[in-house]
Amino acid sequence: MDNTTNGRPSISLEAYGITHNNFHYQLSPEQLHEITLKKGMGREASSGALAVNTGEFTGRSPKDRFIVKDAVTEDKVWWGDINIPFSPESFDALYDKVIAYLNERELYVRDCYACADHNYRMDIRVVTEYPWSNLFAYNMFIRPTEEELRHFDVEWTVINAPGFRADPKTDGTRQHNFALLNFTRKIVLIGGTGYTGEIKKGIFSALNFILPVMKKTLPMHCSANVGPKGDTAIFFGLSGTGKTTLSTDASRKLIGDDEHGWNNENAVFNFEGGCYAKVVDLSETKEPEIYAAIKKGALLENVIMDEAGNVDFSDTRITQNTRVSYPIYHIANVQRPSIGKNPKHIFFLTADAFGVLPPISKLTASQAAYHFISGYTAKVAGTEAGVVEPVPSFSACFGAPFMPLHPAKYAEMLSKKMKEAGVNVWLVNTGWTGGPYGVGTRMKLKYTRAMINAVLNGDLGLYDYDHYHIHSVFGVAQPRECPGVPTEVLSPRATWNDDQAYYTTAFKLANAFRTNFKQFEAYASEEIRRGGPQRYAF
Ligand code: ATP
Ligand code: MN
Repeated sequence: MDNTTNGRPSISLEAYGITHNNFHYQLSPEQLHEITLKKGMGREASSGALAVNTGEFTGRSPKDRFIVKDAVTEDKVWWGDINIPFSPESFDALYDKVIAYLNERELYVRDCYACADHNYRMDIRVVTEYPWSNLFAYNMFIRPTEEELRHFDVEWTVINAPGFRADPKTDGTRQHNFALLNFTRKIVLIGGTGYTGEIKKGIFSALNFILPVMKKTLPMHCSANVGPKGDTAIFFGLSGTGKTTLSTDASRKLIGDDEHGWNNENAVFNFEGGCYAKVVDLSETKEPEIYAAIKKGALLENVIMDEAGNVDFSDTRITQNTRVSYPIYHIANVQRPSIGKNPKHIFFLTADAFGVLPPISKLTASQAAYHFISGYTAKVAGTEAGVVEPVPSFSACFGAPFMPLHPAKYAEMLSKKMKEAGVNVWLVNTGWTGGPYGVGTRMKLKYTRAMINAVLNGDLGLYDYDHYHIHSVFGVAQPRECPGVPTEVLSPRATWNDDQAYYTTAFKLANAFRTNFKQFEAYASEEIRRGGPQRYAF
């Protein structure tokens, strides 16, 4: 068919076992948008964006993500219930089944790459069953120039077959959907799920193994931006803590919103070429840049629209995890290429639903290492009685599901780089204030931004501990004042109006930290262990 689109030489998929020519190569976003509409697989929103439903899965499925255990990975991967082993034989058999399935279908092929720093560039070919999944790849990976395409050297391949269903009885999977990583064959094999996030997180997981092991470079689950003076800031945090929201700031150039490397040439570089933002309750006034990025070319997932195509961002009928992907150039103020100098400040974002961590606090080097390994945030979960309670959630390195190596490996590299670069580390609670979830309220985005800007503008009296109060439970340094933020907001205890309830809850969280950290104690020095909470309940 038209795999010679736009006058490019034709490519063949025979090396993958795909013997037909019924595929479209390197279609433009407009073409993919049109085809999706024509096939009835999506609708155009009034903003011009394409809106699709991803189907059964509206989020990643960590229990169905496997790594092939073979000579490359066997001794290096931290195997367990996060990095679940898969046999090479089962992979080969399942791969052949997926290919047989794709041999019956019209396909979309895209060449793109990861890593803005060309020393680390990874050329990727993405083969998708659906046109809109290919648009996601266009939006999220880096788009090669025509010249770069002529010298394209595919290193990794993503094969995405949402309509294929595995048979767990014979295929070695847990259920019908799967995301498999094979480091020997350099393939990410995805089936049974249309959730696009699996595509980008598959390549992220590959880089999180390859960069530290082969290139001595630190990969990070963080966003990054750069100020007018060239000062880089990075933001680590688990899903929903604010990486995308807070890195997208009109006064600073966006480097990237989710995945970066910190190289040995004193720079931070984006792996990706686009952003993947949550749109639940998105508001034009609070997040104008993200709102404006939702236009033709953007891909909305699982949102509810009226007849006229107006999206109701508050409608979570399909999922809480409504999303949009867009190429980074949909944001006005971006850094080109997506590379910044060594960071001056690192923020650890946490959405503390217990409402006990200070909205901003400064960490010592020990505390930074401790909190990085812990990777705390909180989720809210309903119980049988319909009561909604916060549940602590720890994910090492603020991204355990994507980290194939032992967390200590990444923590060591980060500590070393932080020392060399002399960065300051801040813990930012973007979660609750005035009480736990259900009692208190979410921290105002306006305040969180003001606190971050105060740090970045040097307005928090960085080296002057007279301006800080040491938190009696967590040991972190909490500023007493911050421009643009009411003083009482800075002290979580003061916002509760109930000291006893506050301390009871703070101790509960301190204990959760301690319990979680037990698995890492053997790997942590005395110095790192001292970075944990200072007091616990007994
Ligand atoms: P993921 O890793 O899943 O992409 P993320 O860390 O990028 O997650 P965001 O997409 O930035 O998370 O989500 C943060 C959400 O919380 C947004 O919907 C944002 O509007 C909301 N929010 C509310 N209050 C705050 C706050 N004080 N700081 C940051 N985000 C806030
Ligand atoms: Mn994000």
